Amino acid sequence: MYTLPELKQDKDFDSIAIMTSGGDAPGMNPAIRGVVRAALSQGIKVYGIQRGYSGLIADDMSTLQSGSVSNIVQRGGTVLKTDRCTAFKDPAVRAAAAEILRRRGIGALVVIGGDGSLTGAHLLQQETGIPVIGIPGTIDNDIFGTEDTIGFDTAVNTALEAIDRIRDTATSHERHFLVEVMGRASGSIAINVGMAAGAEMILVPERAIDVAAISSELAASRRAGTGSSGIIVVAEGPTPGLTSRLAEQLREQGQDPRVCILGHIQRGGSPSGHDRVLATCMGAMAVRYLCAGYSDIMVGVRDGSIIDVPLDDVIRFRKGLDPSLLDMALQVHR
Ligand code: ATP
Repeated sequence: MYTLPELKQDKDFDSIAIMTSGGDAPGMNPAIRGVVRAALSQGIKVYGIQRGYSGLIADDMSTLQSGSVSNIVQRGGTVLKTDRCTAFKDPAVRAAAAEILRRRGIGALVVIGGDGSLTGAHLLQQETGIPVIGIPGTIDNDIFGTEDTIGFDTAVNTALEAIDRIRDTATSHERHFLVEVMGRASGSIAINVGMAAGAEMILVPERAIDVAAISSELAASRRAGTGSSGIIVVAEGPTPGLTSRLAEQLREQGQDPRVCILGHIQRGGSPSGHDRVLATCMGAMAVRYLCAGYSDIMVGVRDGSIIDVPLDDVIRFRKGLDPSLLDMALQVHR
C-alpha cells in the first residue's frame, strides 16, 4: 500500500516540465507517461524537455498532451532523448536555466535520471528556488534512499538471458567464460544476475579480486571433475578493461577463459512488467508530491512502498551493496 500525500487546496503552479537525463534506462518512457497523465488529470500543463539539461539550457521543449505519451509504455530508451551536459555544472548556467523556466511560467521540474542528474536538480532548487522532484532512473540501482530504480529489473533480466545462452556454449566446449556486466562502483547487477544465472563465481567492486585464488579454484574443480565449464560474472568496475586484464592474468596462471562483455545490450530493450509498474507509480507519485507542496525530494521505494527521500540525502550518502545479499551470494557461489 502506498501512503498518498494530502493534496494542497491551491496549487502553486499550473505548468511543470519533465526531462530524462544521464544514461537511458528501460522504464523511462512509462515514467514520462505516468507524470504526464497524472499531471493532466490535475489540470496541470506539462512541457517535455528534449535531451536533459542540454535541452533545458537551449530552451528546447514543447507541451505534451495525453496522446503524446500513447503507445510508449512498452518502448525502451526515452522518447524525450537524453544527454550528459557538462555546462549544467556551472551555477551561472543553472541560473539561466531557471530564468528559461520562469519565462515560460513553468512552476516545477521533474527529473528522471541517475545520481548525477539528481545532483543537478538539487542544485537548481537550492540556488534558484525552482521546485524539483527526482525520479531514480538508472539500471545500476546505486542510488541512496531507494531499494529499486527504474531499469534495474529489466537490465538484470536482459543480462540473464544472454548468460543463459553463453552457458550453452560454455558447457558444450567445456570452457569458462568471464561475463562482464555493468556496474562501475556497484556490484548490484552482478550479484543479482550471478545468483539468477547460477554463476560459479561473482566478482564485484566491493570485494578485492584474488587472481591466484580464482585460478586454483578453477584448477581444483576441474581436477575433481566438477568444473569443466562455468560462468564467472564480473562487474565492470571503475577502470575500463578489467575483465580482459583478468582473463590475461588467468591465462598467465594456466587457465584459458573466454571473455564476453555485455556492454550496452543491458541498457536497451522493452521494460519488464516490474519496471513498467514501478515507473508508472513513481511518475504518478512525483506529481502527487508536487501537488502536495513537496520539493527537493526524490521518489523512492522502501519496504515495497513509495516514499519521499530528501535529495540532499540522496546526494550526500552512498548506497552500499546489501551485505546480506552479498553474504547469501557468497554462500552459494564463490
Ligand atoms: P547514470 O547513472 O546513467 O550515469 P547519471 O544521471 O548519474 O546517470 P551523469 O552523467 O552523472 O549521469 O549526470 C547526468 C547529467 O546531470 C550531467 O551531464 C549534468 O548535466 C548533470 N550533473 C551531474 N553532476 C552534476 C553536478 N555536480 N552539478 C550539476 N549538474 C550535474
